[in-house]
Amino acid sequence: RVKENGKNHYALFAPEMDPIAMQKLTIQHELRRALHNEEFRLHYQPQYDLASGQIVGLEALIRWQHPERGLVSPGEFIPAAEESGMIVPLGDWVIEEACRQNKQWQLAGLPRIPVSVNLSFRQFSHKNLKGKVAEVLAQTELEARFLELEITESMTMDVDRASLSLKELTDLGVNISIDDFGTGYSSFHYLKKLPIARLKIDRSFVRDIQQDPNDAAIVAAIIAMAHNLQLQVIAEGVETEDQVHFLRLHRCDEMQGYFGSPPLDSERAGRLLEQHLNRDALPLSAASRSM
Ligand code: C2E
Ligand code: MG
Ligand code: MG
Ligand code: MG
Repeated sequence: RVKENGKNHYALFAPEMDPIAMQKLTIQHELRRALHNEEFRLHYQPQYDLASGQIVGLEALIRWQHPERGLVSPGEFIPAAEESGMIVPLGDWVIEEACRQNKQWQLAGLPRIPVSVNLSFRQFSHKNLKGKVAEVLAQTELEARFLELEITESMTMDVDRASLSLKELTDLGVNISIDDFGTGYSSFHYLKKLPIARLKIDRSFVRDIQQDPNDAAIVAAIIAMAHNLQLQVIAEGVETEDQVHFLRLHRCDEMQGYFGSPPLDSERAGRLLEQHLNRDALPLSAASRSM
């Protein structure tokens, strides 16, 4: 839009064309193009039951297969997607793809386990989330209990609103977990008010569990609290056998992290599920022997 006042030529560029606004428009355009061109992929990271070593779930993690930049991780585009609003169609795609893939694995005879999908704040606040989830479950014919939605503590700040939104989702039969637990808004008020199934202990607490007695105390306390509230608890970012040992000792239910497996593309994830079905020796068995 050209301004005619002629007094200030910079008006031609402001505010519509300032560099930041331009960059935002470019990113929004890029994300829309990428979604249209099917450049997004889901990788899946297995979640293991600590007592049995069984794979009991998969977390879907988005990647962008960029034509020039290669595989781009979510940290590099999710914030821009949130800000531009593109997270809503993108997030819808993630729910669709995760449910479609899970159903396909189930139809192929692979273990029937839930897939977890990360929700962004905007998606969670969107009035049609329940409708979208219901539609995807109906279309893919995936049973609702095989879909889990991950939210973060900050999304529960308005407890009454969050409670209504979550109730709508749990009424469908999906489970809710709290991601990055311990790093966000730190009131426990919401824990007893919201229909939550599971806490995911943030990996920043798990990392130094062996060296830092404070982290060890925090992780032990989260596990105990979760159990007293009848919630499941999973540790994120588990990389070592010592961490597994600690978590087992404290009766943590599940773990997710490089020690079990990194996130895998859908083909590799499918193969892992297949191997898992066909053998007794499980990836965590080395750790089991040390018990
Ligand atoms: P998150 O949901 O907490 O996911 C776990 C992140 O930790 C993943 O990073 C995963 O690759 C990484 N990770 C797993 N095990 C280990 C480990 O043992 N050590 C270390 N250092 N890291 C580990 P990723 O895939 O880069 O995702 C980063 C974040 O991006 C996610 O954190 C989530 O908040 C967000 N994200 C990913 N996919 C989606 C999505 O589809 N929608 C939305 N809204 N956010 C997403
Ligand atoms: Mg997550
Ligand atoms: Mg997390
Ligand atoms: Mg997260």
